[in-house]
Amino acid sequence: MTGPAAEAAAVRREFQRIHGRAPEGGWAAPGRVNLIGEHTDYNDGFALPMALPQTTVLAAGRRDDGLLRLHSAQGDGRVTELAVADLAPGRVSGWARYPAGVVWALRERGLPVGGADVHLDSTVPAGAGLSSSAALECALAVAYDELYALRLPRPELARVAQHAENAFAGVPCGVMDQMASVCCAEGRALYLDSRSLEVRQVPFDLTGHGLRLLVLDTRVAHDLADGAYAALRAGCERAAGLLGLAALRDLSEADLAGALAGLPRDLAPLVRHVVTENARVGRAVERLTAGEPEALGPLLTAGHASLRDDYRVSCPEADLAVESAVAAGALGARMTGGGFGGSVIALVPAAAAGSVARAVTAAFAAVGFAPPAVLEAVPSAGARRIG
Ligand code: ADP
Ligand code: MG
Repeated sequence: MTGPAAEAAAVRREFQRIHGRAPEGGWAAPGRVNLIGEHTDYNDGFALPMALPQTTVLAAGRRDDGLLRLHSAQGDGRVTELAVADLAPGRVSGWARYPAGVVWALRERGLPVGGADVHLDSTVPAGAGLSSSAALECALAVAYDELYALRLPRPELARVAQHAENAFAGVPCGVMDQMASVCCAEGRALYLDSRSLEVRQVPFDLTGHGLRLLVLDTRVAHDLADGAYAALRAGCERAAGLLGLAALRDLSEADLAGALAGLPRDLAPLVRHVVTENARVGRAVERLTAGEPEALGPLLTAGHASLRDDYRVSCPEADLAVESAVAAGALGARMTGGGFGGSVIALVPAAAAGSVARAVTAAFAAVGFAPPAVLEAVPSAGARRIG
């Protein structure tokens, strides 16, 4: 037996071994790549992520003594035991702050949730910019939603998970990763309006168009909890304030040149990135809706240049991956995720997938970078019950 059923059975078996009882259910939530629309979510803007086949799977069962007992196959082998009533930001460290943060965030909303035994296992590489943190939060959020009969709408679950990551785990991320993990659908990209949390499922048929989407993990660890991400976010908020806007989402491409002229030199490039990036998302959605996924290529590469030169969140490894992929026949490529390392996506004709991956690996070797890990991004389903 292979596939989802085997995966569900395996996580339930392991739960039984760790916790000495049967779980009440199993759930899965995916990692994501963002096709276009980077650093736009916290500016109330637009993004176009898709879920990966790589997921975090989780088995859980309620406890009536108010304890949250967490175990991860990727953890240190121990069960982390926390009293739900005592959860507060700053009191939990390490990986457990992501799932514990979700339970805390649900209680912050006044929802009647108690303890649980939890075991989880993941195929989403951690720290690769593929949002293993959101996959973990969202797997726990959908499990709790069902176990405690909360019946929250999916965007609400994403908000809870984001609140957990912001306030409890200390990472000032936007809402895109969590929305992708809970709302994506197989064979689709998710057109997300980060202000209203409205979404549209956009057809993204790679195989039907002879295309593949490669993920090149540069293996450069990023750490969004450090100050750089927060500083960028603060810079955008300051610029919006100077322009008299609620958020940079409210500045159109037509008004960009005028706005830039009046901004301090350190803020103007940030604003240019956000405004042009929102416009690229719009164009990408138009092309996909017209059934022309190959037209994404130049938008990806233009997005990378903007992240590299204006937003300045790329790194030499990501730049080299993009350049060498495009030189070897990719239709376009860009860093995905928050930056400072992480992964690059490359849209390639199916026949060129192997040669592009080899070219990037060779380019890395030539300058002494560690070899990238290569995955394939297949548009997959969002968070779900698995057994
Ligand atoms: P990304 O979300 O891009 O993978 P982050 O730094 O945001 O990177 O999140 C990675 C962190 O999330 C890990 O360092 C770990 O603390 C936590 N994490 C993610 N998946 C797991 C897992 N399966 N088990 C334990 N911790 C996990
Ligand atoms: Mg993350």
